[in-house]
Amino acid sequence: MADYDLAIIGGGLNGVGLARDAAGRGLRVILLEQGDLGGAASSATPRLIHGDLSVLERRGFWRVRRALAERRTWLAIAPHLVRPMRFVIPAHSEERPPWLLRAGLYVYDSLTNRSGLPAATTLDITHHPVGNALKRPFGTAFEYSDCVVDDSRLVVLTALDAAERGAVIRTGARCVRADRTDTWRLAVVDRGLRRTITARALANASGGWTSMVADTVLRQPQPAMAATQMSQIIVPRLFDSENVYVFQNNDGRLIFARPFERDFTLIGTVTHAFTGDPAIVAMPCADVSYLCDAASRYFRERVAPTDVVRTVSGVNLTLASARRRDGTTLFHARRRKAPLITMFGGDVTTSRLRAERAVTRLTPFYPMSPPWTAGAALPGGDFAWDRFDHEVDLARDRWRFLSEPEAQRLVGAYGSRLSTVLGEAKTREELGPSFGPELTGAEVRYLMAREWARFPEDVLWRRSKLDLTMPVADRVALAAFMAGVKDPPRSG
Ligand SMILES: Cc1cc2nc3c(=O)[nH]c(=O)nc-3n(C[C@H](O)[C@H](O)[C@H](O)COP(=O)(O)OP(=O)(O)OC[C@H]3O[C@@H](n4cnc5c(N)ncnc54)[C@H](O)[C@@H]3O)c2cc1C
Repeated sequence: MADYDLAIIGGGLNGVGLARDAAGRGLRVILLEQGDLGGAASSATPRLIHGDLSVLERRGFWRVRRALAERRTWLAIAPHLVRPMRFVIPAHSEERPPWLLRAGLYVYDSLTNRSGLPAATTLDITHHPVGNALKRPFGTAFEYSDCVVDDSRLVVLTALDAAERGAVIRTGARCVRADRTDTWRLAVVDRGLRRTITARALANASGGWTSMVADTVLRQPQPAMAATQMSQIIVPRLFDSENVYVFQNNDGRLIFARPFERDFTLIGTVTHAFTGDPAIVAMPCADVSYLCDAASRYFRERVAPTDVVRTVSGVNLTLASARRRDGTTLFHARRRKAPLITMFGGDVTTSRLRAERAVTRLTPFYPMSPPWTAGAALPGGDFAWDRFDHEVDLARDRWRFLSEPEAQRLVGAYGSRLSTVLGEAKTREELGPSFGPELTGAEVRYLMAREWARFPEDVLWRRSKLDLTMPVADRVALAAFMAGVKDPPRSG
């Protein structure tokens, strides 16, 4: 008998989504990730959970409706990671006419029912706080509701849920060869040690590596694929309001600028064709300038490339024949050839649904329970999204040493599971050494023991964004602390 029912190559959003879905349906699952969970494209997404207005413009009504239904699902199952915000489109005389935007937003709102989010409105921003950050000529803006998400924590908590339902999650484990007969036999280099595992089905969810893995590891035929790079920039905070601004750039693209961690603004996204190794992806200077210029057309404060504190880039694939950037799922099974799922691209919003549909394709091969992921909260997400502030108040009542922003960060990261991180501590000192003003030894130990963190970057960039503010000396101390934590127990 094979060791597992399903082996998954890749611990990005697509891989962990498959693992969670399949483990919850009773399959024996192993997920292999060569680096850290969400270490590639899945921590470089635009971080939006939305129906995508630009799709509406191309008359993709059903796609928008489906994505808005998924937005509702995410708010219900991950209220700590997915936060509703008011998005603002300043009307620009040279871009899409106001009547078109108004009509588009009316349709957008009507494609979702019972969302519980405020409807779109038109604002006179000459005397409205929303207009304060914008250049003078903007008199009117359109405001509507959508959501933002912490993409890399979404990956990690999806993996955690999969592990709690029985999946084995191995990070630092690279699949180097897979032989296909009526089962799959995989050679894996797992933290330096070579091991062999067998599985009844295999999923190639290796993102930007999908085509390379299919060619060199699986040696299976595949359709032609094209690689695309997505990039964003992070600059010091440009505006005080808690809005996401959406600009219409003069080439027709929609660019967004959103508050990011308390003190920063994230501006994105620019995409273009990519060639090379997805592990070495850097944002070209021209793309940085493009986003700075786009923001400077709208904001009073000029944004220059020298203001950029970090760039974020990721690579993923689309089918070369595809006209759209929807995710792709290919399924292949023959007599005496074990099933192969190939899954790549696609947006964060519809990732849960993609995984559900892909695992359902295995129904003829295994007895399994019906789809379930839309109705089960991710770890820490068992509260209503409009009770987020209440959860923050509860946390401050219980751990009185937490400041408001600190409690916001911790509830946003761990939700109702915060007690697993902070325990019964009455003072900050009880949580061990401090690394910068916010990170404590207790949190680092938790992340290493339960969330597969191994290196400072795993903690500082993918499981938090403290990297943006942590002083160098604290980083060095953190690295020494993590190196000294011996063999943390793993959750899967
Ligand atoms: C053109 C384009 C536009 C996009 N636009 C949007 C958008 O507007 N909104 C949005 O939300 N999302 C967008 N995305 C989606 C998003 O960036 C990703 O597609 C999504 O996060 C899914 O990632 P993934 O799991 O396929 O890949 P990744 O996150 O890259 O994960 C793949 C993982 O596989 C691992 N791996 C590779 N080879 C091996 C091996 N041999 N053994 C073990 N592990 C291996 C890698 O280390 C990596 O961590 C877009 C994607 C594309 C292509």
